[in-house]
Amino acid sequence: MDLFIIYIYINSQHNNYNKGYFIQNLHFWKNAMPENKVIKYFSLIEAWAWCDICSEMVNIRVNKDEIKSGLKMGMYTKEHKHLNPYPDQEDTDDYSGQEHTIYLYINDNYDITGVKSFFGDSPSMSEVGAGTIEIGGEVRIPIVVKEVSPMSVQLGMLSLDEFKLLKVCDGMNSVQECADISQKPIDKVEKMLDKLRKKGLVKVIKRTSG
Ligand SMILES: [Zn+2]
Repeated sequence: MDLFIIYIYINSQHNNYNKGYFIQNLHFWKNAMPENKVIKYFSLIEAWAWCDICSEMVNIRVNKDEIKSGLKMGMYTKEHKHLNPYPDQEDTDDYSGQEHTIYLYINDNYDITGVKSFFGDSPSMSEVGAGTIEIGGEVRIPIVVKEVSPMSVQLGMLSLDEFKLLKVCDGMNSVQECADISQKPIDKVEKMLDKLRKKGLVKVIKRTSG
């Protein structure tokens, strides 16, 4: 089966519109460095996100209204349960035919800044940050211990960046992954986490990567 994705991009330069057409074969992506793609329509976005479990790009549509109402000044996490209809029958380690979850972290520009795939309710602690550190290395995982309302930003108790950072401290991301998803430099994230920790809003647990 040949699956093709055609996407049209229109970019504006000095008020001249250039239209380009790209045809990309999904099977190419399977072997290439996977990159998440989003097409933004008027009322919805269509995303192709790399699922580590399926080893395929997973196609997900999300209404912009759903994102907007879930954003609340921060990051929206789209949860999508699915299974791979065509698991590798030869591969005994391929469990992608069983239902699993992919998490998309979507920012307020409707871009995907992070993706997680896991079985069950959440990734196991040993899986968190596994891709960002060598085996046996220490992974630091920030977790929100106290929920704060968006009002605290309006009251000046937290900066907007700190509030957004709290959204990705869901226990599923290492400090490095939090920096990637919130699109902030690591040193800035470390400073913000330090501040949030002193305010009693976050704790940072340490795990050895497995
Ligand atoms: Zn999958």
